[in-house]
Amino acid sequence: MQREVRPMEEKAWAAIVGCDPTYDGKFFYGVVTTGIFCRPSCKSKTPKKEHVRLFHSADEAVAAGFRPCKRCRPDRQARPEEEWIGEAIRFIDAHYTEPLPLRRLAALLHMSPCHLQRTFKRFAGCTPAEYIRKLRLDAAAKLLRTTNRPISDIAGRVGFASAASFSTVFQKQYGMPPSEYRKRHARLSDHTLPHSTPGG
Ligand SMILES: [Zn+2]
Repeated sequence: MQREVRPMEEKAWAAIVGCDPTYDGKFFYGVVTTGIFCRPSCKSKTPKKEHVRLFHSADEAVAAGFRPCKRCRPDRQARPEEEWIGEAIRFIDAHYTEPLPLRRLAALLHMSPCHLQRTFKRFAGCTPAEYIRKLRLDAAAKLLRTTNRPISDIAGRVGFASAASFSTVFQKQYGMPPSEYRKRHARLSDHTLPHSTPGG
């Protein structure tokens, strides 16, 4: 059974020509004239398009009679995407108080912003921006509950560009402005009410 990667052939060809590492692990290509197969990112000389055969896995390429390239080692395990995303999450957890635009994260992880966005969402269930916003809001809510710091100070401390943008995002998430949240929490903590998390 022939299992070439037909639907993405044009994209695959562009990835091969551009040595695009974001396609590594997604497909492999063999060159019929050399009998060798590579990862898309391989820096070896770009083959003629008509000599290229695409495969979903290294195993398929081997089964079709191709030998692994000594340069890009397509037979070795590539880092699974979960690992990349785990790395992204660890980085965000440690740096969420800093400005973290998608392109900066992507550059740090050697991914294209679009690929990072898509892959992150697939594994984490939300986009990097949504994940960062949640961390910032959680940290801000905690500071509102446990400190008397001015709201503008809290906004900057957890990574919001301004107190105004913090208030807008906070209001959207918690249904009330930060000042109200602080007041209500103070009132609640006077009683020993069970802890509840509105909206999960
Ligand atoms: Zn190669």
